[in-house]
Amino acid sequence: MTFAFDNSYAALPEHFYARLPATPVKAPKLIKVNRALAHDLKLDADFLESEAGVAILAGNAVPAGSAPLAAAYAGHQFGHFVPQLGDGRAILLGEVIGRDGTRRDIQLKGAGQTPYSRRGDGRAALGPVLREYIVSEAMAALGIPTTRTLAAVLTGEYVLREDGPLPGAVLTRVAASHIRVGTFQFFAARGDTEGVRTLADHVIARHYPEIKDAANPYVALLEGVTARQAKLIAQWLLVGFIHGVMNTDNMAVAGETIDYGPCAFMDAYRPDMKFSSIDQRGRYAYANQPPIALWNLTRFAETLLPLIDRDQEAAVKRASDALNTFGEIFEAAYKTGFARKLGLAPSDAAHALGQDLLGRMAHNAADFTLTFRGLCGAAEGDSETRALFETPGDFDAWEQDWRKQLALEPMRGRKAAMEAVNPAFIPRNHRVEEAIQAAMTGDFRPFETLTAVLAKPYADQPDYAAYMAPPRPEEIVRETFCGT
Ligand code: AMP
Ligand code: MG
Repeated sequence: MTFAFDNSYAALPEHFYARLPATPVKAPKLIKVNRALAHDLKLDADFLESEAGVAILAGNAVPAGSAPLAAAYAGHQFGHFVPQLGDGRAILLGEVIGRDGTRRDIQLKGAGQTPYSRRGDGRAALGPVLREYIVSEAMAALGIPTTRTLAAVLTGEYVLREDGPLPGAVLTRVAASHIRVGTFQFFAARGDTEGVRTLADHVIARHYPEIKDAANPYVALLEGVTARQAKLIAQWLLVGFIHGVMNTDNMAVAGETIDYGPCAFMDAYRPDMKFSSIDQRGRYAYANQPPIALWNLTRFAETLLPLIDRDQEAAVKRASDALNTFGEIFEAAYKTGFARKLGLAPSDAAHALGQDLLGRMAHNAADFTLTFRGLCGAAEGDSETRALFETPGDFDAWEQDWRKQLALEPMRGRKAAMEAVNPAFIPRNHRVEEAIQAAMTGDFRPFETLTAVLAKPYADQPDYAAYMAPPRPEEIVRETFCGT
């Protein structure tokens, strides 16, 4: 038995999805199996790397116990509602229960056309597949809730994109589930309240079992999803992550980061930073992520209104109260996390120091990751952080205030505590690009090295110090693309 499938989504009503297998590809070739993740999922990594395993990962063979399907969903894309999106190039193979007892989806992304493909070819290009592999696994290693990558394979086929034919690939994505805010919107937009209820009950049982006996489970569901998203977005901000395309169909109700497209970690700190080529107005810029998450959650709340109370006015009141918890939960998570980055306990003083530092970093184009990593050593010795600032004196002035606060809060092991929350290694855009470009010529060594380094983001890895460095001017990546 290779996959001990236990499929719950495939048992939901037939109008939730289209049943179909992946479309076979010409010449499957393994790029990589994530052996550590395979172990966590009780999967046989050796088998997955075998010819029969690769055939499954490419969509050329349907494993026993799989009930392959493409899920239906809708969504607001850049604020505009699209009533039918759905898995246009992904096939859910089924669900497995991992060693931790958690149920997870196994999905092939880039697996061919489905009834939801619209004008798309159902395929994925090598570059975006490697980007998702690298960044999703980096997020997991950073301790941020995320979908995972179990494997990547080449298809032996070419896909046509704006810049010409590109090698095709399939990514095996692992997720707590692929249920999105947009999945709820799909049923709500059709006036299918029973569909919304069935989906909500499924999500409660699967992701929020603790609320199933709540007085009003649908209010509790909204509160639960709101809380997880508030904490998730705080974690993104604390490492400088920009999702890039926070459409409602790209927000998972389980609270995981999902759909790595034109995402990026910023180098120099800028609150209005954005990379995505399709986000012209900066709707999904770094500092806009909290309000956009709340906007998306408000769309989610709207789908639940008929379930919350028969009296719609009362339902709106309850939903608003639940949504209003977002700000408080986000602020608490962000302030606590930020204080820890500074080696301090959360307090108004720590918050003020943090905001002051960010302002100075923005003015001085200081590298986000290196500034905080530099503070770890500075807490117990001299600081090289000042050199990251265009005007080092701007840092010195702040440092004096910071040291006063450190003195007020004696702490043992401050450096180690700070290093545990301030990564040395993030998937820098130029390194991701370098790995992709090499892979396009058949050289996967930079990809292998990068994934290995990013598996230990909080450790000093002196041999790989070069991977900490920001890009040289000619290496700077200013724009990232969906590539779909
Ligand atoms: P995304 O921008 O990746 O969140 O995708 C938005 C929608 O477009 C989803 O319904 C996807 O399934 C669909 N889509 C993206 N790329 C393709 C493709 N190459 N072929 C078919 N559908 C696609
Ligand atoms: Mg998407």
